[in-house]
Amino acid sequence: MIEPQILDHPKDLLLRKERIPHIWCPGCGLGSVLSALVDALKSSGLDFKNVAVVSGIGCTGRAAGYLNLDSFHTTHGRAIPYATGLKLANPDLTVIVFSGDGDLAAIGGNHLIHAARRNVDIKVICVNNFNYGMTGGQGGPTTPRLARTTTTIYGNTEKPFNLVHLMAACGAPYVARWTSAHPHYMKIAMGEMLKKDGFSFLEVIAPCPTNFGRRNKLREIKLLQRFLEQAILEAQPDIAKADIELDSPILCGKFVDLERPSYLAALKETVSAKVKVYDFRGDGRVPLEEAPVKPAAAKAPGKPAEVPSERPIIQRPVQIKLAGLGGQGIGLCGLIIGRAAAIFDHNQAVYTQEYSPEARGGASASSIIIASGQIHTPYVTEPDIMVIMAQGAYNKYQKDVRPGSRLIIDKDLVRPKDLPDSVQIQAIPSTRLAEELGQKVVANIVILGFFTALVPHISLAAMQKALKGSIPKGTEELNLRAFETGYNYGKKMQEEEAV
Ligand code: SF4
Repeated sequence: MIEPQILDHPKDLLLRKERIPHIWCPGCGLGSVLSALVDALKSSGLDFKNVAVVSGIGCTGRAAGYLNLDSFHTTHGRAIPYATGLKLANPDLTVIVFSGDGDLAAIGGNHLIHAARRNVDIKVICVNNFNYGMTGGQGGPTTPRLARTTTTIYGNTEKPFNLVHLMAACGAPYVARWTSAHPHYMKIAMGEMLKKDGFSFLEVIAPCPTNFGRRNKLREIKLLQRFLEQAILEAQPDIAKADIELDSPILCGKFVDLERPSYLAALKETVSAKVKVYDFRGDGRVPLEEAPVKPAAAKAPGKPAEVPSERPIIQRPVQIKLAGLGGQGIGLCGLIIGRAAAIFDHNQAVYTQEYSPEARGGASASSIIIASGQIHTPYVTEPDIMVIMAQGAYNKYQKDVRPGSRLIIDKDLVRPKDLPDSVQIQAIPSTRLAEELGQKVVANIVILGFFTALVPHISLAAMQKALKGSIPKGTEELNLRAFETGYNYGKKMQEEEAV
């Protein structure tokens, strides 16, 4: 008997097979849109290492998880800001946004219009299913007039967005619309977008049969298919006639295809003529005009950066909170701790800041969580270590000092009171020591050195490197002396305690 041969599916290369079967309902057009994108990518000749896909929340948003590319399933409505950040940080990437109408045109609507206006070089595929499918079929900004949804049970009275018209009005240089029943044209449009320099927008009409279809006589696939197939396909469609009505054929085609300098190109031309712009992608700082098109990262392609031998292993996330008055440099200290842990010790770190309403002087805090494993929340709820540099900040944040934790203070400026006995208080006259060094403003760096001597979760080498990279040019010597002063004070204190 001949053994059956199991062949790879032609699309396997770009799919995460372990995630299949997908969650989409039978009859949903999402599969055909994803399939067209896979085909377009395969024909594009792009190096898939330089392609990233970003999606938001909703049924369409699941696509990012199914594609075997660098992909981000981001927060609701924020796919475009993530994609914009990716493209600006690494212009070599081809960045695709694959998301739904609810995500892109409702909660993310503002991002969509401004990305089109700026002409950010991202490729946006918006699958318009006419409602919020994943959450049960509520009406949204693209629900056609008179259509029934769970929130428009008598028929929608609002005029829906004509998305292609909106994008054209915002200045998008490439705008097209097809339906999920037109895979061939979808693939062609996606291929053109992948080559286009600038913001490209493709709307794919794919009504949700499960929630929208069953309330609008489109539940049966043959009815849905008939509705889509009656679309009018034109070589040069008139965008003013592209409104969608449930009882009329949908106008499809390529509405806009013109040349306009992309956001990055315009930025480079205008700004780099006036200021020096550097490229940091390779080994160091290279003036942008001298930077290679590809970064000089060939140093060790694909090889993870070397983990330092002195890297502290942090079994459970350590929560750190620094508090002081505005202007004391609390934010900078938090940033240095986070950078030291994440960049130089190769651990994980998250960093957040909070300010009082005053521009200067009110109590402010920065919070850092560090761990060797995953960190699941950015919020410091029960600090293990608190550093407080002023009485006003103590009064505000004393409530966060929990039993058994460590409290580091400026001993001249903070009078701790009403604390549980189990709190370990460690004090340094950081402001006075800074004044002795000649500059009171480096009191934060003195206390940072003290913190480094006492806290085992970040290596000294990492803190020194992070400090050097975070302080303004011309202040290195003073800051390094301040750090050393605090560090030596802490070490001496430890030795005396040990005796
Ligand atoms: S709920 Fe609607 S949009 Fe979501 S997968 Fe099902 S058919 Fe598709």
